[in-house]
Amino acid sequence: MTKRKVRVRFAPSPTGPMHIGGVRTALFNYLFAKKHGGDFLLRIEDTDQARFVPGAEEYIIKSLKWCGINPDEGPGIGGNFGPYRQSERKEIYKKYADQLVELGWAYIAFDSTEEIEKLRNEAEANKETFSYGIGTRGKLNNSLNLSDEVVKQKMEAGENYVIRFKMPEDKDITETDLIRGSVTFNTTKSLDDKVLFKSDGMPTYHLANVVDDHLMEISHVIRGEEWLPSMPLHVLLYRALGWEDTRPKFAHIPLTLKPQGKGKLSKRDGDKMGFPVFPLPWKDPKTGETSRSYFKDGYFPEAFINLIAMLGWNPGTEQEFFSLDELIEAFDLERMVKSGSRFDPEKAKWFNKHYFQQKTVEQLANLFKAVLIEKGIEVSDEKIKNVVAEVKERCEFVSDLWEQSSYFFEAPDSYDEKTIKKRWKEDTPEKLAEIAGLFGGVENWEADSIKESFSGFMNKKEWGFGAIMNPLRLSLVGGNMGPDLFKICEILGKEETISRINIATVTIQN
Ligand code: GLU
Repeated sequence: MTKRKVRVRFAPSPTGPMHIGGVRTALFNYLFAKKHGGDFLLRIEDTDQARFVPGAEEYIIKSLKWCGINPDEGPGIGGNFGPYRQSERKEIYKKYADQLVELGWAYIAFDSTEEIEKLRNEAEANKETFSYGIGTRGKLNNSLNLSDEVVKQKMEAGENYVIRFKMPEDKDITETDLIRGSVTFNTTKSLDDKVLFKSDGMPTYHLANVVDDHLMEISHVIRGEEWLPSMPLHVLLYRALGWEDTRPKFAHIPLTLKPQGKGKLSKRDGDKMGFPVFPLPWKDPKTGETSRSYFKDGYFPEAFINLIAMLGWNPGTEQEFFSLDELIEAFDLERMVKSGSRFDPEKAKWFNKHYFQQKTVEQLANLFKAVLIEKGIEVSDEKIKNVVAEVKERCEFVSDLWEQSSYFFEAPDSYDEKTIKKRWKEDTPEKLAEIAGLFGGVENWEADSIKESFSGFMNKKEWGFGAIMNPLRLSLVGGNMGPDLFKICEILGKEETISRINIATVTIQN
């Protein structure tokens, strides 16, 4: 038997923006495909028109792109197995639903939503749960109980109906999940008769998903754990449709958990707990509110991807930093953990810091330049580079660069009170004026030579270093922060340094 080509798919429903969990599913699919020289498909599962959210598909595509997870086939990309949007494949599914009815694997049900709701409420009142299936279908309004004649009449009269899968009784469905091992479901104990097709002409998720995975020659279904209970139904559908020989293998990825470790990380958790859960900003079409995102918060996509890959997977070594290529190389489904993975927003920052520090001064200066331009600050590239080189080490994000270095671009408009109280003495203005005079005579305006002149002068004067260094720093940066003082002088330039000293001596009153 020739080895089958690996083909996997990410199959989101466009019901909203995808969050960390969705990206993670896409990423693991992508890594698996690339590791095995296979194809990664994007398929939009938009058969549930009621849950369709405009903009969601676009959002998903853009987010994958930002992450560098590029599908080989999908909407807008093309491929030999399209269309890749289920709403555009509508015509395909009906015949399979009919086939299942003909073969006795499915039946037609006329029960209205209200009738089912009523049964559900009645069951609830008796502290039971209603399910349409093995125990109840014999008494309900469906083709198992009605004559062919009546069924035909009802259909011709345009009565609403659905096609339901007829779950076989008391069968153990055992399947090897590539992450969790052997899993067994008993049909009577845990499975109901799921709707496969609706009278609006649309298949439900289950039918469309299985039909498409078959037609698109998917070799492995890698998806979130919430779909594990659907696996036995899908296995049976492949059997019923005669596709068992070529059906995909399954791997269900354990959940991403809230930072507290309990419960699935939800789309709302980010705003609630103060960290982003979305890759890109998402503007809710209903409320008009825009959610926080990794992109806007200044994360690098490589940090984001690295962080997400480590949620539920590890290489079995101490290595924590992986580029996308390194992830492809190292990835293995067998190394997925079987339990949920707690999402840690602090760890996310830690990853970003690493990738931030990996960037060259030039790269960061380029990014920082955009921030400065937005603030209306135009300075030479040279100056930006010099500033970045000085403060880079203290930063985790591009936005930190401004926080750490704004005084290089704007003279202080106030001075730290505490430092004034502690360091600004009566004779400080006089002394600083002398330093300004000294600086005026420094010819080679570079940190080393400024320092040399300064030290010589201080020794001669026998002034304590602390008594001058702190007020001098205060005059130049407005507080007690920043890198080497003489480096600051150098980058500010001679004129600006002297001007700032003069302004401080006038402004700061004892
Ligand atoms: N449309 C499903 C979802 O939104 C796909 C599940 C699957 O991968 O089978 O997650």
